[in-house]
Amino acid sequence: MKKQTSPLKNLRTIDQVADLVKERTDNRRSTLAIFDLDGTLFDNRTRTMFILREISEKFDSRLPQLSAAFNSFRDLSVVDYSLDVTLRRLKVRAPAEVHFIKQEWAKRFFSDEYQKYDMPLPGAKACVERIHKAGATVIYLTGRDVGRMLVGTTEVLRLYGFPVGVAGTMTIVKKEFEQDDEIFKREVSEYIDRLGEVVAVFENEPANSNILQARFPGAASFFVETQHRPGAPRLNPGIARIKDFRPAGRRTGR
Ligand SMILES: [Mg+2]
Repeated sequence: MKKQTSPLKNLRTIDQVADLVKERTDNRRSTLAIFDLDGTLFDNRTRTMFILREISEKFDSRLPQLSAAFNSFRDLSVVDYSLDVTLRRLKVRAPAEVHFIKQEWAKRFFSDEYQKYDMPLPGAKACVERIHKAGATVIYLTGRDVGRMLVGTTEVLRLYGFPVGVAGTMTIVKKEFEQDDEIFKREVSEYIDRLGEVVAVFENEPANSNILQARFPGAASFFVETQHRPGAPRLNPGIARIKDFRPAGRRTGR
């Protein structure tokens, strides 16, 4: 006879999620955990700064304002969700320069080659690994696209030691780059719903967080406070806010 299993309600911490997954696994039950990548498991600001630095070196004489910006560049807090805002903060204002930088940035940012310059959030790898080891299928659900970014996505997950390509993992990306992120995640969540019991969702976009919480009301929903699209909706109640993936006791200076 199967043991009684716990209900999903009121999971508020990653510890509780891992314990529940373990219990379900011991009872031969399938569980799923959904992780967004950009702004959730990974901080993309380093990718942007690396690209801007590369562009400023490569096109030096054409980009005097960007080159000058690196004389005073101090830390990543200058990097906003919007490249326009970042460039304004860096005092790059000449329209022709801004236009050229945006073109060159987009070519690189949305490509396989530059994803290795992302930085995992503190504790991200340990958290994913723990939930995976407990027996959940880890689903990387990202608005990156198959044509330009799947290879780099897999590469960077492997580089940092995240479980990828092995049993109990799944990477779901967009077929077309142009597809709207929210519509993509809404449609895919219908498919995921058929696969098994979703126990946890991790997102950094309030709109996606709300969509996934509505689709999986029993799952623990975590909102990672990094950066997100401007003008985002309010986060629905019942979604737990986290700054990163470290156990609360190991966060210092916060
Ligand atoms: Mg994201």
